Amino acid sequence: MVTIEEALKIIQDQSVNLKTENRHLEDCLGFSLSENITAPFDMPSFDNSAMDGYALCGIYKVYKIVGEVAAGDMSEIALKEGEAVRIFTGAKTPEKTTAVIMQEKVSVHGDKLILETEPKEGQCIRRKGEELKEGQLVFEKGYSISPAGIGLIGSLGIEKVEVFKKPVINLITTGNELIQPGKPKGEGQIYESNSYALAAACENFGFHCQDKKQIEDDFEAIKSGIKESLETVDVLILSGGISVGDYDFVKQALEENGVEEQFYKVFQKPGKPLYFGKKEDKFVFALPGNPASSLSCFYVYVLPFLFQLGGSDKKGLGRYSFPISHDFENRGDRPSFLKAKINDSHVEILNGQGSSMIQSMALENALAYIDAETSVKKGDLIECLLIS
Ligand code: AMP
Ligand code: MG
Repeated sequence: MVTIEEALKIIQDQSVNLKTENRHLEDCLGFSLSENITAPFDMPSFDNSAMDGYALCGIYKVYKIVGEVAAGDMSEIALKEGEAVRIFTGAKTPEKTTAVIMQEKVSVHGDKLILETEPKEGQCIRRKGEELKEGQLVFEKGYSISPAGIGLIGSLGIEKVEVFKKPVINLITTGNELIQPGKPKGEGQIYESNSYALAAACENFGFHCQDKKQIEDDFEAIKSGIKESLETVDVLILSGGISVGDYDFVKQALEENGVEEQFYKVFQKPGKPLYFGKKEDKFVFALPGNPASSLSCFYVYVLPFLFQLGGSDKKGLGRYSFPISHDFENRGDRPSFLKAKINDSHVEILNGQGSSMIQSMALENALAYIDAETSVKKGDLIECLLIS
């Protein structure tokens, strides 16, 4: 049995083989850069107008309108003192432009432009290089590409980027009692939900389960299911069959497949029977079958490792402390991850903390960490992992 910190450290200390690929801009959301990106040119690359209005030369209240420049126009106009041109947002400002005035603040009489007030030098002009200078570091290796990141990469004219490949993930659920949603349920059976929850949790953070299998509590079947999955995966996630019951075959089946245990059992609640192992460069998490345990273990242990394998600078769920909105006592002898809800910057521990209970999990947006045999008072700061 290891502590939570030891388990996290064992996971984090694994040496992982990062693979890279070249991906199109359209298809790189959530991937992590495997290279730094520097600005290939100044951004903006030319002085341009921030408004629809007039580009002005000199500081006056009356100007002579001598032409027009629209966005994308390439013509080179050079203004003289007292002259103005009609200009539109994003259009290149003519040489010698002192300022741009928005069209709402002027009146036009023939070719005469009359301003309500004198302009200020430089107003409404977006300067060449004011956002980024050529050669400036824009993104560091490991940056997890966001929608705005995609926008910025595109605006730098970059069509394809080098990213780390995301891990290939397979899911195996075990249990004789499990049937698929949609089928009629017999006496003693329960619907298999973990594979859906775990696959969805992966998707939620940009990872995809390549394959899902449901296997009965049959040693040989589990063993061969694991063998087959290990041929293609980077990470195999199993659910159920990892406790100490007579039908819990997962650990032995992993051993017989040559998977080496990195830890088994974590001093925590829920999720004590959590197992982590490796075979060459493939990794295995065997999560307890109780729905709340398996999802908690995914968030706390599997997710940070998926980010690690994807070369991301993300470390897992965000960790923040919030004052608790009520007194609470953790009477258990193990540190606990409790289903919790953050409301108005306060954390509330929800009812229905049983490992098998998924309803409170569906209503939560956080896991609150509270040490074993600890009483906390309303207003005490509680460390929380934010799920959404
Ligand atoms: P186990 O870890 O196999 O002992 O399972 C613990 C509890 O979780 C049992 O009540 C199982 O019926 C339940 N369980 C196991 N696997 C699943 C699953 N895939 N979906 C929903 N419940 C499950
Ligand atoms: Mg079972």
